[in-house]
Amino acid sequence: MIDLNDLLEQVWPIAAQQALATEAVGLKHALGRVLAQDVFAELNVPQHDNSGMDGYAVRSAEIQANNRFQVSQRVPAGTSPQALQPGTVARIFTGAPIPPGADCVVMQEDVVVNEDATVTFTALPRPGQWIRRAGEDISTGQVVLAKGTRLDAVHLGLLASIGVATVAVARRLKVGVMVTGSELQNPGQHLQPGQIYNSNEYVWCGLLETMNAVVRSVGVVPDNFQATCAALESLADCDAVISSGGVSVGEEDHVKPAIEKVGQLRSWKVAMKPGKPIAFGHIDRQGGGQSWFFGLPGNPVSSAVAFQLIVKPFLGLLEGQREGEVDWRLRVRKVQAAFDWLVPDSRREEFLRVDVQSNSASLFANQSSGVLTSLARTSGLVRLAKGQQVKTGDWVDYVSYQDLMK
Ligand code: AMP
Ligand code: MG
Repeated sequence: MIDLNDLLEQVWPIAAQQALATEAVGLKHALGRVLAQDVFAELNVPQHDNSGMDGYAVRSAEIQANNRFQVSQRVPAGTSPQALQPGTVARIFTGAPIPPGADCVVMQEDVVVNEDATVTFTALPRPGQWIRRAGEDISTGQVVLAKGTRLDAVHLGLLASIGVATVAVARRLKVGVMVTGSELQNPGQHLQPGQIYNSNEYVWCGLLETMNAVVRSVGVVPDNFQATCAALESLADCDAVISSGGVSVGEEDHVKPAIEKVGQLRSWKVAMKPGKPIAFGHIDRQGGGQSWFFGLPGNPVSSAVAFQLIVKPFLGLLEGQREGEVDWRLRVRKVQAAFDWLVPDSRREEFLRVDVQSNSASLFANQSSGVLTSLARTSGLVRLAKGQQVKTGDWVDYVSYQDLMK
């Protein structure tokens, strides 16, 4: 058996060494894609000192209570002001550039407009108030987003704010999916005696789509050596292939021998619960090259957890996703157990499905690896060491599904 951490340290670096081809895409098509280059700012944001309020731009030293000031210019956003004439003030609006000479803005709530159109200030201003400084958000030359960032909606806004219209990103990953099991029937079909519905394909395809992968699924493959080899070969042009079920050593488990035939196999029993047998390797392509392969267990919870813990980060690394230094450990934080538990096995660590509300982790009652509701009704996994004893109130390691999907 191999510890999960050791497995991750062996498998992830393989993906980190690869460099995927890149392509230029418009910002509106860049959501979820991984940046292939650092993006530098070629301008300051904001470009000019500008007003943070609707009000009056003034020379603060000139302002005294009860004095009347002429309004010498009007500066709406999108215009370019004149220098402020001494002894006068400028009407100004949020976002408009500060006229040269003015050193602060008085908000209009602190100003009375007299009948003769002069203005009187009811509060004395501080120099600098309500001015948003040029470059206070982003300054010219700064790296705004680093290579390896997976772009979210705010990142797109940030790029737009510096005028970037297209970015270089890794091309989309092509990921093949197959689910093995002669008992599997697809939703929408009638179940024959002994059949169950195929759910793994839907979990994986959904997760892969949220990662922007191009998914090619061949669906259900019966438990048969030839059919398994044929399915694997048909997916060989993908960057990676994921298959569920059939990775144990029973007579009906054909995935490992099939991989040995069509490529190369490394397999492990991972010292974790749920989801211990995992096959890894590659499928050889006819014209040369290879596709990475993961064979995960068929149990719905094991397959989803193994996907999130092992495969998803691997695919992210293949795409070039990085967060500064690559962190091989899982992003855990501490939460307080609202349950008692003893990890029954002294050789395997255990991941428990829990729901965390304000740092308190409640255990989902049924922890069987076949129970998909245990994933649907929880927020993440508590990670317990081999043989660990937990008492209510103990602080334990927790990794949220949300963090796993980042
Ligand atoms: P296996 O790893 O092939 O021994 O499968 C373990 C368990 O997971 C069995 O009860 C299977 O029926 C179930 N299973 C396998 N594949 C799927 C799937 N695609 N969807 C739902 N359950 C599955
Ligand atoms: Mg099976």
